[in-house]
Amino acid sequence: MNTEKRAKEIVRILKENYPSTCSLEAVRDYELLFATRLSAQCTDARVNLVTPVLFRKFPDLDSFAKADLTEIEDCIKPCGLFHTKAKDLKLCAIALLENFGGHVPGTMEELLTLPGIGRKTANLILGDIFHKPAIVVDTHCIRITNRLGICNTRDPYKVETELKQIIEPDEQSDFCHRLVHFGRDICKAKKPECFRCPLKEDCPSANAN
Ligand code: SF4
Repeated sequence: MNTEKRAKEIVRILKENYPSTCSLEAVRDYELLFATRLSAQCTDARVNLVTPVLFRKFPDLDSFAKADLTEIEDCIKPCGLFHTKAKDLKLCAIALLENFGGHVPGTMEELLTLPGIGRKTANLILGDIFHKPAIVVDTHCIRITNRLGICNTRDPYKVETELKQIIEPDEQSDFCHRLVHFGRDICKAKKPECFRCPLKEDCPSANAN
């Protein structure tokens, strides 16, 4: 089977077993943007504990834009890297208000102009909010697609490019969310549980880790 056909089969099997839901909780578009920024080097579960308090204290973009950095820092400390993240949230709020009329923009080029926003976050926004084809490359995505042999690189941009060529456009965003659920459940970083994996028949790394 060629890589494209294998990818199609992997998409089908993951679809049968895992939901396409995003693990980050957010109501408004910019909240998802901010939650994703906070999730860098932090677990989604921890971000989900912090954001309800944060979004109550700063209920709109204006309040983020006018906030003292120390106040944002105090709220987001548990997420780590809190100096940088607090600065990014404030500057991001200012940029959204000044450059995009208070709305989250819907193109990669525009999203990448926002402070602290890289391709991973931009793709998550494009997929979840704008329902555009988007490959969200995180640690689960890199690990699992390499184990499965449908990617052969750990460089996030190359993984994104390779997967874009073999995953159907309308499946891309959901596929990446499913990889996160699958990575937490079975194909874990340490000791993947290959014995109960629905992909084991076609995985070159089965029982190798
Ligand atoms: S067989 Fe093992 S290594 Fe391969 S995808 Fe499943 S859990 Fe991961």
